[in-house]
Amino acid sequence: MAKIFCVANQKGGVGKTTTSVNLAAGLAKLDQRVLLVDLDPQGNATMGAGINKAELESSIYQVLLGESDVAGARVRSEAGRFDVLPANRELAGAEVEMVSLENRERRLKDGLAAVDADYDFILVDCPPALSLLTLNGLCAAHGVIIPMQCEYYALEGLSDLVNTIKKVHANLNTDLKIIGLLRVMFDPRMTLSQQVSNQLEQHFGDKVFKTIIPRNVRLAEAPSYGIPGVTFDPSSKGAQAYIAFGAEMVQRIKTM
Ligand code: ATP
Ligand code: MG
Repeated sequence: MAKIFCVANQKGGVGKTTTSVNLAAGLAKLDQRVLLVDLDPQGNATMGAGINKAELESSIYQVLLGESDVAGARVRSEAGRFDVLPANRELAGAEVEMVSLENRERRLKDGLAAVDADYDFILVDCPPALSLLTLNGLCAAHGVIIPMQCEYYALEGLSDLVNTIKKVHANLNTDLKIIGLLRVMFDPRMTLSQQVSNQLEQHFGDKVFKTIIPRNVRLAEAPSYGIPGVTFDPSSKGAQAYIAFGAEMVQRIKTM
C-alpha cells in the first residue's frame, strides 16, 4: 500500500516543487516506486520531471472531473525514473468546476485508490494556496511535508496551514498528520538562518526533519533541462541532501 504525502505551504516560492521533484527522484534512486502528482496549474513539477505540459493527452484535470482514471493519465519521467500525474493550466478550471460535484474534496483520493498497489510513495505537489485543490491533496494524504525557508517571516502563515491541517484531520481525514518541517534553501553562512533553524528545532522538536536542504544553484538550474536536480548533478550538495531526505522518509514510513 502506498504512503501518500502532500508537499504543502500556502506561501509561494518556498521550495515545494523542488522538494517534490527531487524527493521523488531521490526515492527512485533508493528503489522505491514513486508517483509524483502535480496538483498545481503552474505545472512546474510536470516540467521539472521532463514532461511537456503543453502536449498532455490527459492530465490530473480529467482525473479530478472523472473523465479519466490515473492509469490513463499518468506518464513516465524517464529522467527521474518515477511516474507523474501531470498538470497544466487547464487545472485552474477544475477549482471552479469541482464545486458542484459530489465529494468534491475527495476526488483525488478516489482517483489514487485505483493505483495504490503500484507505488511505495505518492507525492503531491500542492499549489501556493489553501484552495479546493490543496484540500483534495490533504484529504488524500497520510501526511504533510512542509518546506520552509529559515528566514524571519518563515513562521508567519504557518499557523494558518497548521489550523487547516487540524480541521481536515477532524472533519475529513483522520489519517492526516504533519510528518515534518523541512528546512530548505538553507545558507549556513547566515546567522539568521542558524537562529531560525534552532528556533524551529526548539518549538517543533522531532517534527523537524534531520535533513537540511542547502541553497544550491544546481537545484535551481536543473528544471530548465527538464531533469530533477538529483539526476542532473548527483554529486552536488543539493542532490545529496535530497537523497538523504529520501532515506529519512523511507525510515519514517516504517514507523507509521
Ligand atoms: P510555488 O509556490 O510557485 O509553487 P514552490 O514553493 O514550488 O513555488 P519552487 O518552485 O520549488 O517553490 O522554488 C522557488 C524557486 O527557488 C525556484 O526558482 C527554485 O529553482 C529555487 N529553489 C528551490 N529550492 C532551492 C535550493 N535548495 N537552492 C537553490 N534554489 C532553490
Ligand atoms: Mg511549486
